[in-house]
Amino acid sequence: MERGCIFCQIVSGEKPADFLYQDQSLVVFKDIYPHAPVHLLIAPRRHIRSINEVTEQDKEIISQVILKGKEMAKEQGVAKSGYKLLFNVEQGGGQVIFHVHLHLLGGWR
Ligand code: AMP
Ligand code: ZN
Repeated sequence: MERGCIFCQIVSGEKPADFLYQDQSLVVFKDIYPHAPVHLLIAPRRHIRSINEVTEQDKEIISQVILKGKEMAKEQGVAKSGYKLLFNVEQGGGQVIFHVHLHLLGGWR
């Protein structure tokens, strides 16, 4: 838990979010400012600043996050039509919340 990290606060339940899935290692919730008809965020419970900080030790959680993105796409009915799975990395990459999260975007058609 990183003090002042909004996603750590969401993961711990301190801050509300619209959760679609939670387990011991990750959470899935709706993006509050959706950029697509389906816009979900998949985040590990453990605080990792960005993809730049990911190490060999994080292989499992990062694969879990990506697999959950795929599963949520199916559950949300966008798997066939197609979707984006996206990590923004650091300021230049558009990251504004520095707790690793995968965007699932889809549902345009
Ligand atoms: P990024 O630019 O990759 O850091 O993405 C951060 C995302 O978090 C943005 O798409 C925001 O709309 C979203 N966001 C910010 N605050 C919240 C919140 N309290 N609940 C859900 N999504 C949020
Ligand atoms: Zn955090």
